[in-house]
This record gives sequence, structure tokens and C-alpha cells, in this order.
Amino acid sequence: MSSTQTSTPGGCVYLVGAGPGDAQLLTLRAVRLLERADVVVYDNLVSADVLDFLPKAAERIYAGKRRNEHTMRQEQINALLVKLAQEGKQVVRLKGGDPFIFGRGGEELQTLAAHGVAFEVVPGVTAASGVSSYAGIPLTHRDYAQTCLFVTGHLKDGTADLDWPSLVRLNQTVVIYMGLSGLPDICRQMMQHGAAATLPVAVVQDGSTATQKVVTGTLADIADRVVAAGLRSPCLTIIGEVVKLHDELAWFNPVTQ
Ligand code: SAH
Repeated sequence: MSSTQTSTPGGCVYLVGAGPGDAQLLTLRAVRLLERADVVVYDNLVSADVLDFLPKAAERIYAGKRRNEHTMRQEQINALLVKLAQEGKQVVRLKGGDPFIFGRGGEELQTLAAHGVAFEVVPGVTAASGVSSYAGIPLTHRDYAQTCLFVTGHLKDGTADLDWPSLVRLNQTVVIYMGLSGLPDICRQMMQHGAAATLPVAVVQDGSTATQKVVTGTLADIADRVVAAGLRSPCLTIIGEVVKLHDELAWFNPVTQ
């Protein structure tokens, strides 16, 4: 190891998943690490509920990242984590959901590894799992879906660049992260590739929090319903027959929790 790769002893970065919003979904490991963190670097997706949970003594750094409004570029975040660890600090890098699922956690760790900074990864409840649970939509069910696909609907050049034939397979649930602005295009493309216009779809805003909203419909009408309901980011889209179970299994009442 070269001298530039050696970090100050004691410094460490913990890449921690914060779950989808409800602080009760933090893991025990996450809570223990937060309790003794010197500094917490957190994202836009980390909920107010979870932020309330941070110890008052820990320094907080907001690393931002909304679509089209990047508070810190990814390279700046990577460099900041290296710097803080090299100062000998216990750094918690707190990310919404799970850090290894559409979280760019891998990229941050690669920079740390290149600088010889010690790190640990703490998984979190990813949105697909947490949000679907709080919406009462099982992702698999013997009658409706034997597989489940997680994809990102993030737009590239104005259109979602997805493998459409694999998305329209039968007996499958498709979960789309970051797909709100691309939703009309995604629904149109799926129908063009053979999916039934009547295929059920749910869009869930702020899953597992007091402001959770669930809008259901079909590939044909969900985009209009989402606009009519005034949904905004973050939203998770669930497509498949399992969405039918929502009426029967919805248990979470955001108002009274
Ligand atoms: N690493 C995160 C995902 C980051 S990508 C995870 O594992 O969950 C950001 C996307 O996650 C959002 O655009 C949205 O699609 C989804 N998401 C995260 N939390 C959510 C929540 N509470 N409600 C709805 N969608 C959520």
C-alpha cells in the first residue's frame, strides 16, 4: 500500500441504509452506529423521522441530490467521505432505503477502497420491500407473480431506456424506482410491447411515512390518475396482478400512526 493510500488510524466510513422513511425500520446496527457517529452525511431521501433520531452531538452534513438539482456532485461526496475518515472520524454515510440498491453506494466504496479508508456496509429496508409492505401489496403471490424485477425508470435523453420485452413477462411484478416523470412513457411502451392495458399499477408516494399516498389504476389510466392526485417525488411504482391485493390488504393508516 502506498503512503497516499494510508488513512489516519481509527477513521471509518459506515455506509448505512436508512430504510424507506419510518424510523422504526432502521436496523439495530444502524441505530448503534448512529449513536456513536462523529458526523452523519445524509441524502435527500432520508426522512425527517429518521433525522429526528440522530444524536444531537453528531455533526450533520446534507449531501442532497434531487433530480436536476444536485447539491453536491458524486465526486465531491466521495472526496468528503475520504477527508472525514482521514481526520480519524467515525462517519456514517446515511442513505435512503438500502445503499446497494440504486443508491450509488458501490461507487462511494470504490473511492474509499482506493484511498485505503476502512468501511462497513449496513443494509437497509429497500423501497420495494418497505413501501410495498406499507401499501399492502405483496411483491410475489402464488396466484399472481413468481418473479419480481427491480428497475430504474430514470430518464436518459427524455425516455426511459428499459428492456421492454423482459418487463412485460406474465406472472411477474415490476417495481420501478425513480420513475415518476417517465411514467406515461413507461406505460405506453409496456402496452406497445404486449402488456394488457388492464394490468394493475400502484404508485406510492412517501411510503411508510405520515404523508404516504397510494394511487391505483391500470397501465392505461395510471399516469392521468397520478397527475389528478398531485403525487410528487419520491414515488415507487408497482406493476402487476399483485396490485389487486391492495384493497384487501392495506393496513397502514398514515393519519393515525
Ligand atoms: N437506495 C434506495 C433507492 C434510491 S433511488 C432504496 O433502496 O430504497 C430513489 C427512489 O427510491 C425514489 O425515486 C423512489 O422511487 C424510491 N423510494 C425511496 N423511498 C421511497 C418512499 N418512502 N416512498 C416511495 N418511493 C421511495
